[in-house]
Amino acid sequence: MSDIAANIDRVRAGVRTAAERAGRDAEQITLLAVSKGQGVAAIVSAWDAGIRHCGENYLQEALAKIGQLHRLGIEWHFTGPIQANKTRAIAAQFAWVHSVDRIRIAARLSAQRPPALPPLNICLQVNIDGETSKAGVAPTALPELALAVARLPGLELRGLMAIPSPANTPAQTLSAYRRAAALLAELRARSPRLARLDTLSMGMSGDMALAIAAGATIVRIGTAIFGSRPTATNR
Ligand SMILES: *Cc1c(COP(=O)(O)O)cnc(C)c1O
Repeated sequence: MSDIAANIDRVRAGVRTAAERAGRDAEQITLLAVSKGQGVAAIVSAWDAGIRHCGENYLQEALAKIGQLHRLGIEWHFTGPIQANKTRAIAAQFAWVHSVDRIRIAARLSAQRPPALPPLNICLQVNIDGETSKAGVAPTALPELALAVARLPGLELRGLMAIPSPANTPAQTLSAYRRAAALLAELRARSPRLARLDTLSMGMSGDMALAIAAGATIVRIGTAIFGSRPTATNR
């Protein structure tokens, strides 16, 4: 078994354990392999071990891999910061975007999503720890953004994405993830347009179990699957 396959087994076991402890069904949790900085061979190994969702943060790097791995039918998720001049390629090449935090970017993705493709799945990134440096919509501005994005054609608003402050203790991270879950519940109750939101993208290699305890439905795992990241050259 390759290291990557063994790592994926270990991560899946961790998902099952955390789900069991939370009284949740592990089948409801998608393992998103964050393959930024990794080459195509590593991604093929992950695919061989059953991975079907991959996350990328850097568009140029992602486009090269998406092209080379086209035949595998991977579902690609964009998880990085989005510049307005990158939205056209993101709208055409990805199935999900986790990092939408302003209406201008959502409107561009909507207008640029090719009509032949199914709607682009969107998570709104919420700045859950109020970090001044961090991307993400402030929780107070979230309802207005969610209602606006839910109206856009070509997009399917699915839920929220959160990245807690790296300075947090585990207890602080758990409470940040619980706040994200509460924000999703508030949105769902707020409007029939938002009632179908079903996704909480939260949890990375270091805090996956906490995110699952708080209700994560997509965990975004990089180093626990692929090992430490080689420096990418094609950003
Ligand atoms: C890199 C990254 C991850 C994966 O982080 P690991 O700690 O390597 O698991 C998850 N989400 C986002 C948004 C990232 O940029």
